[in-house]
Amino acid sequence: MSDPAHVVILGAGHAGGTAAALLRQYGFEGPITLVGDEPIAPYQRPPLSKAWLKGEADAASLALKPLEFYPENNIDFRAGVTATKLDRAAKSVALTDGSSLAYDILILATGARAIALPIEGADLKGIMALRTAADAEALKAAIGPGKTLAVVGGGYIGLEVAASGRALGAEVVVLEREARLLARVAAEPLSTFFKAYHETHGVRFELGCSVTGFVGTDGRVSGVKLADGRTVACDAVVVGVGVTPNDELAKDAGLETTRGIVVDLDARTSDPAIFAIGDVAHRPMPIYDRMFRMESVPNALEQAKQAASAITGRPRPTGECPWQWSDQYDLKLQIAGYAFDVDQVILRGDPATAKFAIFHLKGDQVQSVEAINSPPEFMMGKMLILNRKPVDKAKLADPSISMKEVAA
Ligand code: FAD
Ligand code: NAP
Repeated sequence: MSDPAHVVILGAGHAGGTAAALLRQYGFEGPITLVGDEPIAPYQRPPLSKAWLKGEADAASLALKPLEFYPENNIDFRAGVTATKLDRAAKSVALTDGSSLAYDILILATGARAIALPIEGADLKGIMALRTAADAEALKAAIGPGKTLAVVGGGYIGLEVAASGRALGAEVVVLEREARLLARVAAEPLSTFFKAYHETHGVRFELGCSVTGFVGTDGRVSGVKLADGRTVACDAVVVGVGVTPNDELAKDAGLETTRGIVVDLDARTSDPAIFAIGDVAHRPMPIYDRMFRMESVPNALEQAKQAASAITGRPRPTGECPWQWSDQYDLKLQIAGYAFDVDQVILRGDPATAKFAIFHLKGDQVQSVEAINSPPEFMMGKMLILNRKPVDKAKLADPSISMKEVAA
């Protein structure tokens, strides 16, 4: 394919920033415009709840690329500008600065936003989400010794913020609707392990609880109301109850959407001139023979590669095994794959040693692995998930047999 005249990327996050850089790396010579509604250049979000929040990483280290990368690579990066309307017939996008941008190829990389709780008192000061660098600044200013932080939601955000909050000397209480932590993404033994590990670090938990409202003093939050009538006292609240995709532009323009923008294996939408990548995309995952939306950095990178390859006429990249990670205290959690249609769970190692892995199997195939401080289990598990090779379950359950031998 010859170079299109103009690629416009909406959303300057992990996926959008990576796609712009990859297009240049793959030799694309046409104009690229990268539009982002945040005031800063594309950056990594993972440290916002981990190293950066704890003061172990500076702001500059978050940037995907130094600011000069964009002009040096002839990428017209426009910060602080929101795309408000997509006109597919005219191939143009309206922006909040009053201008409109014509495109030949459009990449939608608008990500997802934190879900807010529509309950009494939700607009009190001190109630925060954690999605952006600005959110993280506000959170960091609100926690420290002598402060009590209430965290609504025991997912990734909730647990990482709880661990960082403790490291910063705050009291932390996590309020989770489910009967166990990480219910949406992890197996029960892992939930139990994380709860106990956090408790030894002083985090309190209220599981199976329903948050009904917030109370405040002088406009600032001072407590979280629970359905059983109790009020949990606090100085600040982080709400980490999941995200919703920013797919409204696509929906309003008539693109196919279903809890995200529907794309194919090239990250192309139902309009051949438009791609969608990252948290906003509802994508095929052939190893599971289904489509779904993933919320992770490796997914943003993989789909940026897919779109940039298709636009520059390169072969479609080889499919990757989805994975994600989380750092809490001295624990490294690495998860590969998703536990779809699982009929057996195999524990390898002993949770009491904080070094173990949980394998989820469908028949004799590994569907996913959750590995705590166990890189070989994660690496080999990822390979087994991708190549769909049957495994010997007895060997898999025996940590004295190396993962290399299990996977051989
Ligand atoms: P985003 O990075 O959200 O970027 C989308 C951008 O588009 C945003 O800047 C948004 O403001 C902008 N935008 C939206 N609409 C418009 C519009 N109309 N016009 C212009 N701009 C627009 N993943 C992991 O794999 N591992 C981790 O450890 C991990 N930790 C995380 C920690 C935190 C605190 C958070 C918030 C997320 C974490 N994630 C982690 C998830 C990961 O950051 C996301 O999956 C990833 O950022 C998705 O990239 P994206 O480009 O699709 O979306
Ligand atoms: P999440 O992983 O979806 O977890 C949200 C949790 O909050 C779920 O356990 C959910 O339970 C619970 N919840 C929902 N409504 C609630 C309510 N009213 N009261 C109490 N609990 C409630 O989402 P998240 O932790 O907010 O993370 C947001 C995004 O950031 C995700 O995309 C995530 O992948 C990403 N992130 C990733 C990492 C990582 O990969 N290490 C780290 C941080 C953030 P239900 O199951 O009942 O809904």
